[in-house]
Amino acid sequence: MNKSAGGSPNCYLPGGEALKHTPKFRRNAASLECATEYVRRLPRLAAILPVLLLALAAGAGCDRPFDQWFRPPGKPVEPVAQTQPELEYEPPIATRPAAEPFERIVNLGKSARGRQIEMYEFGRKSLPAVLIIGGVHGDEPQGAEVAAKLVEYIRLNRAEFADAHVVIIPCLNPDGRAAGTRGNFNGVDLNRNMPADNWEKTTGRYNGGKNPSSEPETGLLISAIESVKPALTISIHAIAGGKQCNNWDGPAERTARAMAKFNGYPPKATIGYPTPGSLGSWAGKDRSMAVITLEMPSALTAEKCWEQNRQALISAIKGR
Ligand SMILES: [Zn+2]
Repeated sequence: MNKSAGGSPNCYLPGGEALKHTPKFRRNAASLECATEYVRRLPRLAAILPVLLLALAAGAGCDRPFDQWFRPPGKPVEPVAQTQPELEYEPPIATRPAAEPFERIVNLGKSARGRQIEMYEFGRKSLPAVLIIGGVHGDEPQGAEVAAKLVEYIRLNRAEFADAHVVIIPCLNPDGRAAGTRGNFNGVDLNRNMPADNWEKTTGRYNGGKNPSSEPETGLLISAIESVKPALTISIHAIAGGKQCNNWDGPAERTARAMAKFNGYPPKATIGYPTPGSLGSWAGKDRSMAVITLEMPSALTAEKCWEQNRQALISAIKGR
C-alpha cells in the first residue's frame, strides 16, 4: 500500500498497476478491496508465472554458462583454460622412447659340474653383433683373462662402444679353468665337440666327446650363437711354440688381416693341423659365418696378451 500524491490511499497490483479506491470506503475497507482484487487476479498471474520463469532461464542460458548464472552482475568472468599452458622449455628426453640399457648380463646356464656360465652384452642390440668367447680351454688362462679385461674396458669406456654391439662369454669352460685342464669336467675338448660335419670320435688331448654336442657347454654356446646371430665371432686361445696367429674360417680374412696390423700375429687360413668338431669348422666352414680363432702366445702373461690384443679386439668390434 502506498499513498498517492493527493493523499488518497492507492494499492499497487502485481505489474505496478495502481488501484484507486472509491471514496465511500473507509481506509480499512480500501485495504480489503485491494486485497480482494489482488487475489482475484492471482490465477492469471499463476498461469503466466511458469512461462516467465522459462523465458528467464532460456534467456540466461543463451549467453552464460550454467555455472555462471548466479554470479553477481558486473563481476568479470574468469576465462576457462581449454589447453595446457605452454611449457617454458622442451624436455630433451622425456618425449623420446626409453633408451635400451647399455649392458645386459645373460645367464647362459650351467657347466657340467654346475658352474654358472655368463654372457655380457654391450651397446646397441639393433646393430650386428661381434661375439667374443674366452676360456674354451681351461689350461689357457690368458684367453679367459683377456676376455674379462675386455668386459672391464668396455664398462669403463662405454662411450667408445655406444655405436657398437658386442657380446662376450668370458669363460665357456669354468670347470676346466678351475682345474687347469684343457677339457671340461668330463675331459672333453669343447673345441672338438661342436656338431660340425667333420666331427670325429677322438680321444686323449683332443677328446671330441662321446657324440657331437654331448657337453652342456657346447649346447649353451650353440644356443648363444643362434640367439645372437653374430656377424663376427672371435674365440680367444693361447698357443705355445711361437705359433700365435689370427686364424680365420668363413668370410673373416679381412678381419684377420686388420687384427694383424695391431697384434702383429700372422693371419692364417689354417692352424696347421686338423680341427674336427671345432667352432671354426661348425660355424665358419659349415655355416659360412665369420670366425677368428685368436691364438695368443701362451708364454706371455695375460697382462701382456691384453696389451698386444686390446686394439686388435676393439678394432674388430667396431668393424674397422
Ligand atoms: Zn685353445
